[in-house]
Amino acid sequence: MAYIVTEPCINCKYTNCAAVCPVDAFREGPNFLTIDPIDCIDCDACVPECPVEAIFPDDEVPEEWEHYIELNDRLAEKWDEYLINETKDPLPDADDWAEKDEKFELLKEDWD
Ligand code: SF4
Ligand code: SF4
Repeated sequence: MAYIVTEPCINCKYTNCAAVCPVDAFREGPNFLTIDPIDCIDCDACVPECPVEAIFPDDEVPEEWEHYIELNDRLAEKWDEYLINETKDPLPDADDWAEKDEKFELLKEDWD
């Protein structure tokens, strides 16, 4: 099992979650964080830290976001060098984006 970051994180990236992970399982993309399923030890510490309730155990991911399970795996590999284990400023307008749905198309995979 592993924990999964889902759609509410896109364009918010508050990063509270990454600061509490005991095994540094989070990786950072331009406007989304992902969890490396190999590193995650299912401790649940990150879930209550996320202000937009974006993180779920993989067997509890809401059906409409199940594609994020494969996505976390793939992006954790792609962003392997972008380990994040501390809090940073959220993205501009994060509070506005936190209210919005249907953000998948906005996910940026490439840093440049
Ligand atoms: S706390 Fe939530 S919104 Fe912020 S980076 Fe973590 S998963 Fe994304
Ligand atoms: S469940 Fe625990 S180990 Fe897994 S990403 Fe969250 S804080 Fe890290």
